[in-house]
Amino acid sequence: MRLILMGPPGAGKGTQAKRLEDLYGLKQLSTGDMLRAEIASKSELGQRVEGILAAGELVSDDIMIEMIANRTAKPDCEKGFILDGFPRTVAQAEALDDMLHNMKLDLDAVIEIQVDENALYDRVQKRAAEDGTRADDNVEVMKNRLEVYRKQTAPITPYYKAKGMLKTVNGMESIDDVAAKIDSILGVST
Ligand code: AMP
Repeated sequence: MRLILMGPPGAGKGTQAKRLEDLYGLKQLSTGDMLRAEIASKSELGQRVEGILAAGELVSDDIMIEMIANRTAKPDCEKGFILDGFPRTVAQAEALDDMLHNMKLDLDAVIEIQVDENALYDRVQKRAAEDGTRADDNVEVMKNRLEVYRKQTAPITPYYKAKGMLKTVNGMESIDDVAAKIDSILGVST
């Protein structure tokens, strides 16, 4: 099974992706986690993208597309994967289509987790208090991340809607309820 989880920062994509990973043996591919690992390892790429993440801007499509192409080709993705944080632009979505087409693979679903913007500030502040490792989990940068989401990422939803692939879930419900909705979209019951 190959899925995309979409939604603004703080929507709960990571939480739901981790659950799907544990339950169904799919690999969670979080491009944000991959980039943070590059930064932590002080790799050349990490040094190049550190300021971009800290400002809540997007890393270039070329870098991200290459990163996902390399990652999805690894053996641990054979059973399927959940894309968490990719694609974030229409160009990335188009590149993903080409990539999957060349690999003779299909996407099973694109699930958008919809949330009220006001709730996102609270969630991200909570995450900052609990985790505190992310330079971008603060109100100022969050404003920009939401703006970037609206301008550059939200236009992907009509793209998948036109293909008849887009499903939406109400991310204001509890984690368990959101999980149950996702399961029913995927045709699995728990
Ligand atoms: P996330 O953990 O998904 O919220 O991502 C954290 C940050 O990593 C984003 O604010 C971007 O700076 C960068 N990032 C993650 N995924 C992508 C992507 N697909 N395209 C561009 N930038 C990305």
